[in-house]
Amino acid sequence: MIKSHVLGFPRVGEHRELKFALESFWKGDSDEQALLAVARGLRKRHWQAQIAAGLDFMTVGDFTLYDHVADHIQLLGCEPTRFGFTENQTALERYFGMVRGKSGHVDTHALEMTKWFDTNYHYMVPEFSPSTQFTLHASRLLEQIEEARSLAHPIKVSLVGPLTFLWLGKSKALGFDRLALLDQLVPVYAQLLSQLAKAGVSWVQLDEPVLGLDLPSEWIARCESAYQPLKSTGVKVLLATYFSSTQGHTSLLCKLPVDGLHVDCCRALEDLPQVLDWLPNYKVLSLGVVDGRNIWATDLDRAHSMIQQAFDSGKGEVWIAPSCSLLHVPYRLSNDASIRDEVRPWLAGVHEKLDELKLLKMRVEAHLGKTNWDTAQAQLWQAHQTRVHQRQQSPLVHNPAVRTRLAELPAGVDQRSSHFNTRQAKQQDKFNLPMLPTTTIGSFPQTANIRHLRARFRKGELDRHQYWQGIQQEIRQAVEFQERIGLDVLVHGEAERNDMVEYFGEQLEGFTFSANGWVQSYGSRCVKPPILFGDVSRPNPMTVDVTRFAQSLTDKPMKGMLTGPVTILQWSFVRDDQPRSDTALQIALAVRDEVCDLEAAGIGMIQIDEPAFREGLPLRTSRWKEYLQWAARAFRISASGVADETQIHTHMCYSEFNDILPDIAALDADVITIETSRSDMELLRGFGEFAYPNEIGPGVYDIHSPRVPKKAELVRLIQKAIEVIPARNLWINPDCGLKTRAWAETEQALKVMVEATADTRALL
Ligand code: GLN
Ligand code: ZN
Repeated sequence: MIKSHVLGFPRVGEHRELKFALESFWKGDSDEQALLAVARGLRKRHWQAQIAAGLDFMTVGDFTLYDHVADHIQLLGCEPTRFGFTENQTALERYFGMVRGKSGHVDTHALEMTKWFDTNYHYMVPEFSPSTQFTLHASRLLEQIEEARSLAHPIKVSLVGPLTFLWLGKSKALGFDRLALLDQLVPVYAQLLSQLAKAGVSWVQLDEPVLGLDLPSEWIARCESAYQPLKSTGVKVLLATYFSSTQGHTSLLCKLPVDGLHVDCCRALEDLPQVLDWLPNYKVLSLGVVDGRNIWATDLDRAHSMIQQAFDSGKGEVWIAPSCSLLHVPYRLSNDASIRDEVRPWLAGVHEKLDELKLLKMRVEAHLGKTNWDTAQAQLWQAHQTRVHQRQQSPLVHNPAVRTRLAELPAGVDQRSSHFNTRQAKQQDKFNLPMLPTTTIGSFPQTANIRHLRARFRKGELDRHQYWQGIQQEIRQAVEFQERIGLDVLVHGEAERNDMVEYFGEQLEGFTFSANGWVQSYGSRCVKPPILFGDVSRPNPMTVDVTRFAQSLTDKPMKGMLTGPVTILQWSFVRDDQPRSDTALQIALAVRDEVCDLEAAGIGMIQIDEPAFREGLPLRTSRWKEYLQWAARAFRISASGVADETQIHTHMCYSEFNDILPDIAALDADVITIETSRSDMELLRGFGEFAYPNEIGPGVYDIHSPRVPKKAELVRLIQKAIEVIPARNLWINPDCGLKTRAWAETEQALKVMVEATADTRALL
């Protein structure tokens, strides 16, 4: 038997309806009823799409107003007590209180937010302590089941599994191991499953993506006992794994007391042979054959042969699905007019993926002799496969010049000509900077004026010349301000950039952009990742004009500002027809050309931002080494085409680095700036203990808040920094770029930073 389903659907709506409904509700422009009506409408539309695609189940429980993990916190009754919720607050008030930190009477910091595995989706972190208790609050879920029932189609409820829910939470008591809560949590899941059975639900999908991590053995040892009590609740359980291989415990998963197992055949195909061997044939095997993390049309022949393999191995019931929730891809790409015409047919968003599932299922059914495979279907299949093959063969994707250049990279292309010590001496001679030089990370406030300027240029209301005049004016103001307050190394302010990846992608060959390819990042926030479809090259310089102009306004060093190869890769949808490492190298060469052109234009300092360097780490530590090697090499290739005197900076944020310090050092940037203020310089301690060899600029104030720091605070932080890093290697800068801040607070904060630095210098 063959069935089809999805693990989860996006929530925000094809036209970001939920985002706009939330924003209007938060502003007080609309009421709760209006918000909930939009949510109901979206659920209904999403279920109808699933029915139309011939899926055997509609998935219920994956919808959320903000974040599905936050929904589970309420479902399982473990709202942190620090919020001080009262009896008379509604569930919705408490919900927004937790996720936003401010709602009604609630005024405390929100739940922490962090990345959902290696995706760009952020979830709200549950908080656990020895006093955490779980109680079931299933009314919202049951209402949604009721709602779905009106569509008269079978339902599968999707939930985060107990191991994953605990793992994703954070212990809020020193030394407390949250695994100790499992024994309390499991009975609540059992109770929930029984209630779902009573509500007529026959299948529940429990997502356990943590099974693709290097889980500590104590956690693995508890899998069986966690799932045993869920066995006799009256519903069947599909255990869903995704994002990475379950190697090491695949056999255990096959034996767990559940009714089915979902395997990610895009990211963890290597698990399939074992699962085919070890999963008892009476259990359901769900195959994630359509990529839920990327946007390329599926090779249906290939997917079909995987499904065939499952039947050949004796499996009685096979389900097909996307590899993971469709949360991570845009709704629809086949009608997006912004995408290059030739590339558009190669793509698949949610709706196109549903069509693929439909076609696959029909094909398998025909194969099993259940239905006929008629000519219309055969034609659809053929047309689809033709598009897949067109992409493979298209000259748009393959650029021989790029290939040749990569094949013939000279030895040492990723090495500066001299050791850091030699470079440092030459750079000191050249720039003659004071001790503790001050700088910023690149962007200055993106004012309404700047956004307006860019929008008018995009719409054609301004010609190139008028737009450039406007941008020059912004740069002039930024430079004048930096000189006035006495910063040592200046930046142009990035007024011409909407986004640090899109800006470069738009100027590189091999990229295209959608108009509406939004993907939820967190809550009401969405991003629109560029689509990297082919060999990357740089037809023209991308930043030379702006940077040269900015340098012409000052005698101080002007730092050129680029986005690095790993970050461009990480924040785009990238091709799946070659290793990510190859794509990274191609981008690296394009960035390298830009770096060399900047140097030739007289720019002596160039920053190559890599904020996504750390988030590129694979989920399994056994794969870290390989990633770190090619990622660092890509960075070094981009940075190594310049003379010793040219100073290469890099910037990273949102990161802990302690476990990859040797790899950060291996980037061999002359200067790295990092986010440290919120950790009170603790992050810097690791660099000190490791004896990080090159120069480093620990962020001295948090740019995420409008608060202007006090001079004494900064002096204290700088002194703390000097305790762990030799002063001659230290720079002083904010944590990150200032684009989300307003000018008023930016001016004051940077002034305080410069004064605090001057005071500290006087003491040295
Ligand atoms: N140069 C960028 C900026 O200042 C860096 C942004 C980032 O680290 N995310 O905005
Ligand atoms: Zn940053």
